[in-house]
Amino acid sequence: MQIFYPGDAGYDDERSGFQTGLRHEPQVIFAVETAQDVEDAVGHAESHGLEHAVQATGHGLTTATTGVLISTRRMNAVEIDTAAGTARAGAGAVWQQVLEQAAPHGLAPLSGDASDVGVVGYTLGGGFSVLAREFGFASDRVRKTEEVGDVVTALEFELLPIDQVHAGEMFFEVRYAREVFDAFHTWDLPGHVTPALTTLGDVVRVTFASTKPFDVDHLRVAPVLKEEFSAKPFAEAAGKPLPPHAYQGDNVLLQDLPLDALQRAREIAANSSAEIFLGVLPLGAALGTGATHLIKLISPRLGVEEQHEEVFEAVRPFVVGRSRNFRYAVR
Ligand SMILES: Cc1cc2nc3c(=O)[nH]c(=O)nc-3n(C[C@H](O)[C@H](O)[C@H](O)COP(=O)(O)OP(=O)(O)OC[C@H]3O[C@@H](n4cnc5c(N)ncnc54)[C@H](O)[C@@H]3O)c2cc1C
Repeated sequence: MQIFYPGDAGYDDERSGFQTGLRHEPQVIFAVETAQDVEDAVGHAESHGLEHAVQATGHGLTTATTGVLISTRRMNAVEIDTAAGTARAGAGAVWQQVLEQAAPHGLAPLSGDASDVGVVGYTLGGGFSVLAREFGFASDRVRKTEEVGDVVTALEFELLPIDQVHAGEMFFEVRYAREVFDAFHTWDLPGHVTPALTTLGDVVRVTFASTKPFDVDHLRVAPVLKEEFSAKPFAEAAGKPLPPHAYQGDNVLLQDLPLDALQRAREIAANSSAEIFLGVLPLGAALGTGATHLIKLISPRLGVEEQHEEVFEAVRPFVVGRSRNFRYAVR
């Protein structure tokens, strides 16, 4: 195991992750490789009265620590048990590794829309897969956790016999956002389809995926700028890595989402003093009856909590909680 102190060569690289708007400021970094290293790191924090934080990729950084940083990126072994249909991933493993090792066996994990996200952080937050409504949360598939205190050193979880999926995306000019949001909201969505609607500046994007065929004609309410929809290997639908950048984001879980409240949220986001990308994820089906929708907001800079709260105000009566995932650089 390597240990880094401020000023050491490698200290900055080790504490840096996908989030470039915020970085941990640790007194010491333990770049762990084994469960014993994690124990040593936690022990060091406890004996010095310091807080500790864990970082694998930095995608889900919320608040920066000034104590001990446990960097797990080297602890990233992935093993597939084809007979049992399971995978075991070390604390620092990312989905791309599992996707690559599982695919030759016709197996897939319930990973999300970015393959460089960490398996453990994602799963601890529930894990909303691109096939979430069809198969439920990634956390539903966990068979075993290996832990040292509150640090998970490895996870064992079920893989699914998924090979090809029907998946794609459609883009519209943002001036048709009202019509697209209307259509998305009134879509008589089969339980096996997982869609997402996102505003991205000048465009509105709808993505969708399922292991079974379905059609998206209901969404053709405006000229389609660009469309791609086909049967493809699951790994292709499971997202491409993005370059590191600065972003702040938060979300709300809703027990209902009336169309007028959704349109109001969209309008507030579109007219905000901050650039806000608004995403809508319908829940339900295999995800259960706890919440009907998730609205997530992402901005390409920090310090926009107030503007995000203004958008959430439009759906406030329906809020039942927050997802631990989709919270970025926010307490
Ligand atoms: C571009 C992008 C796409 C995303 N897509 C999806 C998606 O499709 N579906 C979805 O559900 N989520 C998605 N997320 C959210 C993501 O799952 C969370 O941000 C998750 O926390 C990232 O985990 P990480 O290990 O990669 O990040 P890190 O920032 O390294 O870790 C995040 C947090 O997870 C906890 N953690 C990590 N490892 C451990 C451990 N070994 N033991 C204990 N706690 C630990 C810690 O609290 C840590 O602060 C996305 C995020 C981004 C930025």
